[in-house]
Amino acid sequence: MEIETCRQCGKVFMKRTSVLCPDCARRGEDDFLAIRGYLDEHPGATMMTLCDALGVAEETVSRLIEEGRLVMSGSQRNRCESCGGEAQFGQKLCLRCRVQLDQSLRSAANVLRSSLKEGSASDAGKGSYYTRRDRD
Ligand SMILES: [Zn+2]
Ligand SMILES: [Zn+2]
Repeated sequence: MEIETCRQCGKVFMKRTSVLCPDCARRGEDDFLAIRGYLDEHPGATMMTLCDALGVAEETVSRLIEEGRLVMSGSQRNRCESCGGEAQFGQKLCLRCRVQLDQSLRSAANVLRSSLKEGSASDAGKGSYYTRRDRD
């Protein structure tokens, strides 16, 4: 019979699938449900706000992430597709590139709009330019 030391409280217990003693495992389950519920409501929550809000230990959260049961924005590196900087979870671009893109889109729209205006102005001019001479 193998024994293991609980990773959380240090208690010795019979080895099983978990690295925690039954007590901590049960408590961890409660924590897990609370954390998951919190993340459902606050998808962008960081480790710090999460631990603050629920009063759980950071190790508890890290362990759940380690076990693959939780996915947190802070634990998942999200790379900006444009500059390779750190992007927010769920975003393809970092904040800086998003602002830049937004600005360039806006200026592109302005260019497009002004060229359309010029285009229609010269179109309108055409009609009046070619006036037919009615009589010789
Ligand atoms: Zn324990
Ligand atoms: Zn970027």
